Amino acid sequence: TEFEAKPATKSDVESSEISRLRQDLEEMRREAMTDPLTGIANRKMFDLQLRNRAMEAMETGTPLCLLMIDVDHFKQFNDTYGHQTGDQVIRLLAQTLRNNIKGRDTAARYGGEEFSIILPESNTIAGEVVGNALRKAVENKEVINRSTGETLGRITMSVGVAQYKGDETVEELIERADKALYQAKDTGRNKVVIAK
Ligand code: GH3
Ligand code: MG
Ligand code: MG
Repeated sequence: TEFEAKPATKSDVESSEISRLRQDLEEMRREAMTDPLTGIANRKMFDLQLRNRAMEAMETGTPLCLLMIDVDHFKQFNDTYGHQTGDQVIRLLAQTLRNNIKGRDTAARYGGEEFSIILPESNTIAGEVVGNALRKAVENKEVINRSTGETLGRITMSVGVAQYKGDETVEELIERADKALYQAKDTGRNKVVIAK
């Protein structure tokens, strides 16, 4: 038997065009939510996700924990090795964070050299454990410039942890985690502080 090649009809062309447009739209949506340097969630995605998780926590009565992270003395690092090397380190840090969280957790680049982690179904105790694990994963990495082989030493970061209170806004939650982060900075850096 022979197969007869059926010429594409106008509606075949239209539906493949529509599916291509749909793919493009999906791709654009993903891009709008992704930080271009690191490939992790951007601030926009973070805001969206945190709002959703907070709503979910309220509805289900499960805890929700937020970690705010800031790299220690990063200006000094940039001044010593240059902004481009600094950017590579930010990429490395983002990968390290992403590799050390799991399941429904979200790692986002909050801005510059600041990251945030959303931990659904987690209280401050779990948040502290994750914060310290991330902190150690970063601290234990010896940063090496791949193209020159130069050793750039170790990077540390400070972490503020806050558990969502049902009666606060997400802005207030971020504010409390931020305050804890600055307390970590003020009391020696490379540590995790839990917000009250
Ligand atoms: P500390 O947080 O420990 O108080 O000191 P710091 O030097 O890290 O201070 P701060 O967080 O205020 O400064 C952030 C610095 O990080 C400023 C800038 O040099 C660097 N930085 C911020 N965003 C980027 C970025 O996207 N790429 C690079 N290479 N550097 C950045
Ligand atoms: Mg900063
Ligand atoms: Mg910093």
